[in-house]
Amino acid sequence: MAAHQRPILAANWKMNHGPTAASAFMASFLARYARRDDRSVILFPSALAFAAARSAVADRPDILLGVQNINAAEKGAFTGENSAAIALDAGAAYVLVGHSERRHVFGETDAETAEKVKRAAAHGLVFVLCVGEKIEEREAGQTDAVCVRQLRAAFSGLPAETLRDAIVAYEPVWAIGTGRTATPQDASNAHAAIRTELRALAGDTGAQIPILYGGSVNAGNASALLSAPDVDGLLVGGASLEAESWAAICSAGA
Ligand code: PEP
Repeated sequence: MAAHQRPILAANWKMNHGPTAASAFMASFLARYARRDDRSVILFPSALAFAAARSAVADRPDILLGVQNINAAEKGAFTGENSAAIALDAGAAYVLVGHSERRHVFGETDAETAEKVKRAAAHGLVFVLCVGEKIEEREAGQTDAVCVRQLRAAFSGLPAETLRDAIVAYEPVWAIGTGRTATPQDASNAHAAIRTELRALAGDTGAQIPILYGGSVNAGNASALLSAPDVDGLLVGGASLEAESWAAICSAGA
């Protein structure tokens, strides 16, 4: 982790927790997690639970909020979609882009992911670009190459200043929701390759972009992953759905 950085703990609720469950979760989580200035906590609720989460953190500015997806278009006839402007208006500061479920369940391409990055940046939303290899790519020794390809597709041609607020999440597809976590060494290796590419793409700015690890993180493995070299934070799905385990993860590494 770069010396000046504080770890980022981010919760991706995916299609879980409607407004009622989100309110109950937040009451329980906030009672268990007191403000700490040595880390950043970001929650990504579903779009329809966003208002409930926002209202729950009205007195907790240390808890930041983001959306799980935006459409790449500015606005218009895209039934069911949300734009960067709508996300900002709703109170989001962050957006996940290129999550493996968007790429591999919804078939989003590198090019579409790049358009979303551009749209998020144009609106001042901090984008969390997710990259990572599938199991067959890992077994073929292509982990670094896949991450580099996804980074280049999303970031090439963007001015370094646009990347100043970027975050990258290394999320090996084989580790997401499977209970099969990358070892701290696996994560470190991939993060080092990502860091090298970020430096190549954006120089000193690239050296400062936080790189999170995601994939079956839980309260038991969070501290070890967080203390691995080059791991600047964690992006957590399943284990962020329960207030007790999420509060434990938010306290990890200390
Ligand atoms: C995710 O969806 O970003 C994720 C990392 O999920 P899980 O923690 O459940 O593997």
